[in-house]
Amino acid sequence: MNRKYRKTVIAGNWKMNKTPSETKEFMTQLKSIMPKGRWCDVALCVPAVCIPAAVRAMRETRVGIGAENCNANASGAYTGEIATNMLVDAGCKYVIIGHSERRAMGETDADVNAKVLAALEAGLTPIMCCGESLEQRESGITEEWIAMQIKLGLAGVSEEKIRKVIIAYEPIWAIGTGRTATPEQAEEVCEGIRAVVRKLYSSKNARAISILYGGSMNEKNAYELLAQPDIDGGLIGGASLVPEKFVQIIEAANQPTV
Ligand code: PEP
Repeated sequence: MNRKYRKTVIAGNWKMNKTPSETKEFMTQLKSIMPKGRWCDVALCVPAVCIPAAVRAMRETRVGIGAENCNANASGAYTGEIATNMLVDAGCKYVIIGHSERRAMGETDADVNAKVLAALEAGLTPIMCCGESLEQRESGITEEWIAMQIKLGLAGVSEEKIRKVIIAYEPIWAIGTGRTATPEQAEEVCEGIRAVVRKLYSSKNARAISILYGGSMNEKNAYELLAQPDIDGGLIGGASLVPEKFVQIIEAANQPTV
C-alpha cells in the first residue's frame, strides 16, 4: 500500500451467496464491529437482489455497495441483464467487471472493455479483474497475459477517467482454492500492472491508481499481502461472507505504509 498517493480499498465479492434477509443480518453484525477509523475505502459487492437491502442497511456508513456484474448497454432487449444506470439508481457505487468466473462463462476482453466504459460513463467505480491460469503461470506467460488483459480492458478509457478504475489482480489458481499467491508473487504482478498503466497513461496516473490482490486473501495472510508497496487492497471472496473475518482484513489495512 502507499496511502500517500492512492486509496486503499478492501472490497468483498459475495458471488452467489446470501439472500436479502441474510444480507440484512450480515450488515447489522458488520456495523456493530466495524472499525471506527477512516483507514481505507470499504466496498461490498453483492448479488443483484441483495443490493436494496445492503444499500438500506449501510446508508449512514462508509461502506459502499457494489454489483458483481453489469451489462454495457443502456437499455433494451437483454432479458435478465442489469444496466449501469439501474445500479446507480439502486444505490451502487462499485461494480466488479471481468471476474474470472464470468470470463469462464464466456465474457471476452471486448465485453470487459465495454462494461468498464459503461460503468465509468454512469459514474460507477469499476473493479476490473485480471488474472492468469495455473497453466499460463507455469508456462511463463503471466506478465504478457496480464498486460494484454489490462490493455484490452482499458481501451478507450480517457486520461481523466483512468484514476476512477480499480484493477484487481486475481490469479485464477488462487481463487476459492485456499492457495494464496505469495506476497512476492502478488507484488511482482501488481508492480507489472502499474508499469503497464504508466506506459498507457503517465507516471502520475500509474502512481494514483489502486491495484488490489484477490485470491484466498483472509484475516491471516492479509497483513503481509497488504504490506507490499504495489498492493493497495484486496478483493475478497470467501472471507467477506463472515463479518468478523472481513473486519480483520479491514484492520490489516491499517498498517504503516511506505
Ligand atoms: C474472488 O471471488 O474474487 C475471490 C478472490 O475469492 P476468494 O477470496 O474466495 O478466493
